Amino acid sequence: MAAPMGRAYKCPICRSNSEQFALVYKMAQEITKDPDSGETLFYADELETLTRADGLPDLDVRCLLCGYVGRETAFMKEAQHDRGRR
Ligand SMILES: [Zn+2]
Repeated sequence: MAAPMGRAYKCPICRSNSEQFALVYKMAQEITKDPDSGETLFYADELETLTRADGLPDLDVRCLLCGYVGRETAFMKEAQHDRGRR
């Protein structure tokens, strides 16, 4: 799975981290349940990475400095604001 390239991040909470992050991928596994008993009847073999409308993985980003987890767009926006201020 390729990490997004060329997009700067900056933590919108602690605002002192623009280097150390973890990517949090959202995985989906299809299941089928018995509506009466709640028993799971079927698990799909494969996990599917959820993607956004633009086809890129729908992911969250974790700041390894303060532990905040938020949408990737929040981190990208903060990095853009930061550039604008310079
Ligand atoms: Zn942070």
